[in-house]
Amino acid sequence: MGRKKQRHARRDRDAARRHAAAYRCGHCHSTATATPGGVVAIHHDDGCPVLGGAVSDLGDTLRAAAASGGVVLLDASTGAHVTAFFGDGDAPGEG
Ligand SMILES: [Zn+2]
Repeated sequence: MGRKKQRHARRDRDAARRHAAAYRCGHCHSTATATPGGVVAIHHDDGCPVLGGAVSDLGDTLRAAAASGGVVLLDASTGAHVTAFFGDGDAPGEG
């Protein structure tokens, strides 16, 4: 049981690393890093319009997802989005 959880956590971390490596802000050209817990942190410059919410980072997110094998899920009513990764036969509807 615990072993399976570890593999899952490592896969999440690897996906986060791939996504972080592929992410580049289209406005301030900042990069991103992934935490050991699999969270992607984007390091925008202080004056970046994405930070203030004036400009969406959706285009950058879509490009990074395409390059890293992710899928962007969008809440059309709020514009909030998250990048998800389905792999190793764990996609919805598969075994
Ligand atoms: Zn930025």
